[in-house]
Amino acid sequence: MELSWKTTTPQNAGDRLYGAFNSEAGLMTLASAYPIVAVVRGGQWDIGWPDPKGDFVNSETALYDVTLRVPGDWQAVSTGVVTDRQEAGGAQTLRIVSGPQRDFTLALAQFQVLSAEVEGTRINSYFRAASAAGGQGALDAAGKALSAFNKRYGPYPLRELDVIEIPANTFLGVEYPGMIMIAEGLYGGGPDLELTVAHEVGHQWWYSQVGNDVQLSSWLDEALASYSQIVYQEEYGGAAAAERELNGFRERYQRALASGRDAPAQQANSQFRNNYVLLVYGKAVLFFQALRQQIGDDAFDHFLHDYYATNRYRYVTGADLVMAANQACSCDIQPLYDDWITRAVPLAVP
Ligand SMILES: [Zn+2]
Repeated sequence: MELSWKTTTPQNAGDRLYGAFNSEAGLMTLASAYPIVAVVRGGQWDIGWPDPKGDFVNSETALYDVTLRVPGDWQAVSTGVVTDRQEAGGAQTLRIVSGPQRDFTLALAQFQVLSAEVEGTRINSYFRAASAAGGQGALDAAGKALSAFNKRYGPYPLRELDVIEIPANTFLGVEYPGMIMIAEGLYGGGPDLELTVAHEVGHQWWYSQVGNDVQLSSWLDEALASYSQIVYQEEYGGAAAAERELNGFRERYQRALASGRDAPAQQANSQFRNNYVLLVYGKAVLFFQALRQQIGDDAFDHFLHDYYATNRYRYVTGADLVMAANQACSCDIQPLYDDWITRAVPLAVP
């Protein structure tokens, strides 16, 4: 299949539009900037218009081989690895290849960059000159998150992980395979940068490797990326910090209960009624804590490792998750799963 297309990014639109497709102040982010083959679900092409809540793109894992011609003085930040670079007449031509990836994302930057090597992965942090401390903080947090999740979930398979500061004011961070984008508002200091980076690095396991329908069951990746914030705190902040993180998710679920907005976390994004964040980033996160309490730390650890190892590059549903958990604990977690994920009944907060 061969296709020609042309696209134009919005200009300086981070305040009002999706900042991951935007040109602004030394940065052009090109998320979802090219046509892809739609996924097939139940024999049908998935060509529906995405709901603006959550992530937009469902895509099957593929190999990418990209030739890119851009001005010579811009950094090309991408999902893949640059294997060849030619420069002529002020332009550079790059060949970028990838292993199996769920998506290919590109950004062009004229930014500062700091890099570190962590357990065989090169982490690059791109940031504005005014954000030096935040750029270093993002690099450190990404390295710590990568190391923690390598241990707790299984190894990150890529040679690179890029972290980019972007002008975005409608969300805090967003994940792509091998690349995360973090809102510039977090680079000024405070703990939110570290935990947002941890969340987005968590998506490298839950979304990028183990995929799920981001429009029909977004809790599958979002709740595990959010649970990764607790895992990160367990590794680096200690028990009290992990408890504080957990409290944030408890508070969201309790808010849903108190305001009559409890509902199943397993819903299409379009079906949530002013409770998407409370349920997907609150109640569903507590499901994993309830599961851990029921089956114990060791079985929970096995579950995460096996779920990752078995389902890399695939699209999972809740049934795959239940199967992995049942195998890990040699028990039946279906009733617990139904209570927390597919029903709306009052539950003891774990
Ligand atoms: Zn997320």
